[in-house]
Amino acid sequence: MNTLNNLLDHRGSIEKRLMKLTGRVIWVVQLNLSSFSCGCTGITIFFAGLEKEDVEVFASRIVEILNEVTASVRLDPDIIYASLVPGSSEVGSISLKRLCDECRKDYGGDVRPWSNISILYKKAC
Ligand SMILES: [Zn+2]
Repeated sequence: MNTLNNLLDHRGSIEKRLMKLTGRVIWVVQLNLSSFSCGCTGITIFFAGLEKEDVEVFASRIVEILNEVTASVRLDPDIIYASLVPGSSEVGSISLKRLCDECRKDYGGDVRPWSNISILYKKAC
C-alpha cells in the first residue's frame, strides 16, 4: 500500500463527496498529515469554497465522510474542527486531531479554545 498515493485519493474523494453533499464547488487545496510540537498528531485539510454554513448544516455527514476517507491512516481523531478564515464565513481548513494531554485540557471543556473554530466532533473524554 502506497501512503502517498492514498493521500491523493483521499484528497480527491473528499472534494468529490463534499461537492455532492453541499451542491457547491469546493476544492481541497491541500491535505496534510500533521505532527505538532505539543504532541498532537492529525490531518489538516485546506479548502477553498467551503462555507461556515456548510459545516454547520452538514456537520455529522462531513464527520462521517472524513472518518471514512481517512480510515486507512488509522488516526481515530479525538476532535474534528473547522477553522474559519478570520473576518469571513469561509472555512480555511478542517483538522482531525489526536490530542496531546495539554491540548486535551484546552479542548476538553465546553468553551472553544479559539473563537474562529467550529467543532464538528469531539470524542467523549
Ligand atoms: Zn497538542
